[in-house]
Amino acid sequence: MTVTTRFAPSPTGHLHVGNVRTALHNWMWARKQGGRFLLRIDDTDLERSKEDYVDGIRADLAWLGLDIDGEERQSARFDLYEREFEKLKAAGRVYACYETPEELDIRRKVLLSRGLPPVYERKPADAPVPEGAQPHWRFRLDHGAPIAWTDLIRGDQHFDPKSMSDPVVRRADGSWLYLLPSVIDDIDMGISHVVRGEDHVSNTAAQLQMFDALGAAPPAFAHEALLVGTEGKLSKRLGSLGMDALRDAGIEPVALVALLARLGTSDPVEPVTDAAPLVATIDFAHFGRAPARFDEAELALVNQKIVHLLEFDAVAGRLPPPIDAARWHAIRPNLMTIAEAADWVAVFDGPLAPPPAEDADRPVLAAAAAAAPGIDWAVDPWHALTGAVKEATGAKGRALFLPLRRALTGRDHGPDMGELLPLIAKEQAILRLTAG
Ligand code: GLU
Repeated sequence: MTVTTRFAPSPTGHLHVGNVRTALHNWMWARKQGGRFLLRIDDTDLERSKEDYVDGIRADLAWLGLDIDGEERQSARFDLYEREFEKLKAAGRVYACYETPEELDIRRKVLLSRGLPPVYERKPADAPVPEGAQPHWRFRLDHGAPIAWTDLIRGDQHFDPKSMSDPVVRRADGSWLYLLPSVIDDIDMGISHVVRGEDHVSNTAAQLQMFDALGAAPPAFAHEALLVGTEGKLSKRLGSLGMDALRDAGIEPVALVALLARLGTSDPVEPVTDAAPLVATIDFAHFGRAPARFDEAELALVNQKIVHLLEFDAVAGRLPPPIDAARWHAIRPNLMTIAEAADWVAVFDGPLAPPPAEDADRPVLAAAAAAAPGIDWAVDPWHALTGAVKEATGAKGRALFLPLRRALTGRDHGPDMGELLPLIAKEQAILRLTAG
């Protein structure tokens, strides 16, 4: 059996971190098993679905490196749904209903007021049909067939169909609700594993009977705990946090992948520059039942650690030209994002106006300015410079290094000066030492 997974977003909005996480786990599972990962656009709601969102979904998956092995669209598959629907109708597994939303609502309230579960009550077969009314359609659950499956994350699941309402699968205007087309597609596309959020668990219970009614074995299911924000619920911000905002904040796609791959699992979040080690280790048995907490600060930290590991070749195209391999290597440990590399161009090539020197530091800077012109910049100039200044002034430690760092870089902190100074042009260095 080829492992085949699918990510099935409705193109009614942009992807956010929650559905990206679901996409990622489906992709990882398919890649680990040497299987296929499909993008299924759930656009049965023609009014709310927008082509721009479809483009956005494709672009976001590509940015994240989640390559797809095929794309399907539900709106192009209505004929198939119609055929399968007719089969279910002929078999008595879907049936026409005529209640108005108001009637259903009143009935629900009556049941609740009597302390009864608000389960839909089927009408007798000979109930009168309101004149001229267009029916909507429900799937008839088999009350004699208990529902059970072993979820790859949640373990054994049991549902009593008698406690469930027959789900509506088609509206009176002929449009499709999500449940049935999804099952028809999962069968037709040979989906072996359905990985999705635990908000779908009760859908799965009903859908298992649909697989059976359509004569197909169901796929395996993995329902993952939902993603919540730091305050413990799916905040508005998290629900709308799109890939554009993350990209603009300097988040590398692999950082988001690294965090979302492991969040909510028993495996540690690790800074990796490639998804391969994450793919190799995904295991649904390691996924927890508790909500996974997404923290933007944690993402920024993972991102920072990854930036520190990125090799020049991987980022060269995104660096301003004056930042070459040696310069990248020197500044990398000081960056939170790749874009920050641009801030260092002036440190290397100027113009840079160092802060005015403090009086106590003037002898050190004067000695450095005097020594610098005679130093060979090609061989360890920092060692030569500090040696000369030390000899001339007796300064050592912080009193020696900090004024020089400040004057040469305009900052109190930064890369190792031994590595940095040879990368700063000699004339620039002399200019800065004499400026204060
Ligand atoms: N379009 C559905 C959703 O976004 C798909 C759920 C599924 O994976 O079956 O919730």
